[in-house]
Amino acid sequence: MLAGRMMDYPLTLTHFLERARTYHGRCEIVTQNPDRTSSRSTYADLHRRAAKLAHALTRLGVGAGDRVATLCWNHARHLELYLGVPAMGAVVHTLNLRLHPSELGYIASHAEDKVLVVDRSLLPLYRKFAPQVRCIRRVIVVGDDGPVEGDGLDYEALLAPEPDHFDFPTLDERAAAMLCYTSGTTGNPKGVLYSHRSIVLHTLVSCMHDTLGFRERDVVLPVVPMFHAMAWGMPYSAVAAGARIVLPGPHLDPASLLDLMARERVTFAAGVPTIWLGILALLDEHPGRWDLSAMRSMVIGGAAAPPSLLDGFRSRHGLTVTHAWGMTETNPLGTIAHVRASLGPGADSLDTRASQGYPVPFIDQRHVGLDDSRPLPWDGQSMGELEVRGPWVASSYFGDEGEDRFTKDGWFKTGDVVTIDGEGYMRITDRSKDVIKSGGEWISSVALENALMSHPAVLEAAVFAARHPVWSERPLAAVVLRQGQTASKDELRAHLEPRFAKFWLPDEYLFVERIPRTSTGKFLKSKLREEFADLLTAKPSG
Ligand code: AMP
Repeated sequence: MLAGRMMDYPLTLTHFLERARTYHGRCEIVTQNPDRTSSRSTYADLHRRAAKLAHALTRLGVGAGDRVATLCWNHARHLELYLGVPAMGAVVHTLNLRLHPSELGYIASHAEDKVLVVDRSLLPLYRKFAPQVRCIRRVIVVGDDGPVEGDGLDYEALLAPEPDHFDFPTLDERAAAMLCYTSGTTGNPKGVLYSHRSIVLHTLVSCMHDTLGFRERDVVLPVVPMFHAMAWGMPYSAVAAGARIVLPGPHLDPASLLDLMARERVTFAAGVPTIWLGILALLDEHPGRWDLSAMRSMVIGGAAAPPSLLDGFRSRHGLTVTHAWGMTETNPLGTIAHVRASLGPGADSLDTRASQGYPVPFIDQRHVGLDDSRPLPWDGQSMGELEVRGPWVASSYFGDEGEDRFTKDGWFKTGDVVTIDGEGYMRITDRSKDVIKSGGEWISSVALENALMSHPAVLEAAVFAARHPVWSERPLAAVVLRQGQTASKDELRAHLEPRFAKFWLPDEYLFVERIPRTSTGKFLKSKLREEFADLLTAKPSG
C-alpha cells in the first residue's frame, strides 16, 4: 500500500470547543430557567467555564476515562459539561431523569459514575436512588436558589475560584467521550460508549446540507432532552457550526415551546412525535398566534411520525417537518427522509416524506429475514430486521453485554422491522418485539396506527398483539379519542377496511385515556400486552 502523507490530526471535541471561542465567541447560548426568565451567555463563556470546570473536577480527583454523570434538563451548564468533561479526557454520562429511581441506581452503579452533577429540582429524585449507588464520591448541585445541604457542592461556588484557562490535553480520537444508556423496554438498560472520533464524524455529517444542515446563522432549539441519545447530537452540531443555541430548561409543554420559538426566532428544532403532536394541536387551535416565520426546519424522530402530522404542519401552517430515524446505539442519526431531487417532482409525496428515509453518508443498511437472517431484496415489500454499520454505530455495549445484537460480519441488529424500497428508502413496520404474526403472516402495527391516527376523532392509537387460540396472535388497537369527539368501533373498522387486507384489521378497539409510554415517549406496548394479551383467548374470532 502506498500510504497517504497527511497529518494525523485527532478528531476530538476539544477542537469544537476551541473553535467556538476563537471564531464564534460572541455567539449566544440562551437558557429558559425554571422560573421562566432567560439567561444569556456566549461561546466565549462556554470555553471559559469549561476550563474552570475541568480545573474543579481535576481537584475532585476526576481523571482520564472517569465517568461524570449528569441528571439535568437542557441548559447552558449542561452544555459546559457536554464539552468540558470530554475535553479534559473524562466521560460525560447523561442520566435519563424520566427513568424509575431503581433503574437510575442500576445504571449509575453499572457505569461506575464517580461524580454526579444534578439540577437542584432533581435532588429528590437523586435521593431516591442514592442508597443504591456506592461509586458516586461527590455530588455537585446546579441551581441558584439557596445553599446546598449536606456534603453536596454548589456548582457555581465550585467554579468561581478556578482559573479561566486549562491546558486541555491532546487526546486520542478513539478515547471515550460520552456514555448513554438505552431506554430498552425489556431487560436491563445497556451503555453505549461514544468516542471523540465517532461524535466528531457524526457532527460533520449532521451539518451536511441534505442531512440536518446546521449553519452559523441558525438558531437551534434541541427540544429532545440532553439526557436522551445525546439530544441527537444537536449540542455538538450547534457548537461546531457556531449557531445560536436555545435550551428550553424544564418547560417542554407546547405553549412554552411555541413562545420560545417565536421569541428567539428559532430556525431549527427537533423532537419526538409526542411534542410535535401537542404543538400541532395548539397551532390548529390558535392559527397565527405565534410568528414562526424564521423556522426553516423541524425534525421529528425517536418514534414513527404519523403522516397526518407531517401533512398537517405543511398544509395548514406552511411548516416543513423532516422525518429521521436513529438510535442511542447510532449516535443517533442513521437515516433521514430527504426527498432526492434526482427522483423527479413526483417523489415529493407524503409517502416518501413519512418514510424513515435513506442512510446518511457513512451509514450502511440491510435487512434480513426474521426467521432465517438472510438478506432480503429491496422491493418495498419484504419485511425484515434492519441492520446497520458505520463509524458512529456501537460495536459492543459497555461491559460487553448484549453480544447477540452484533453480527459476526460486523453489523448491528437494530431490532426494527422494516421494508427497503428500490431507491433505498427504509420504512419501519415494527419493533421486532412488537410485530404481530397472525396465522404465519406478519402484520405491521405501525401501518395500522398511522391509518387510525388519520381518522379525525383519533388523537393516538397503539396496535399490539393479543394471543389467539387459532391464529396464535391477532391485533388489538388501543385508541385515545380527541377531547369532545366520538368514534365507534364500527366506524374505525370502516376507516381501515379500504386500506388493509381483512386479516390485518384489529379484532378489538379499546378506548383508553392514555397510552402507556417509555421514559423517552415511545408507546410501551409490552404494558398493553401484559394487560390485554388474553382478551381474545376466551373469545376467539373467525
Ligand atoms: P432510542 O435508542 O431511545 O433513541 O430508541 C431507538 C428506537 O426508536 C429505534 O430502534 C426505533 O424503534 C425507534 N425510532 C427512532 N426513530 C424512529 C422513527 N423515525 N420512526 C420509527 N421509529 C423510530
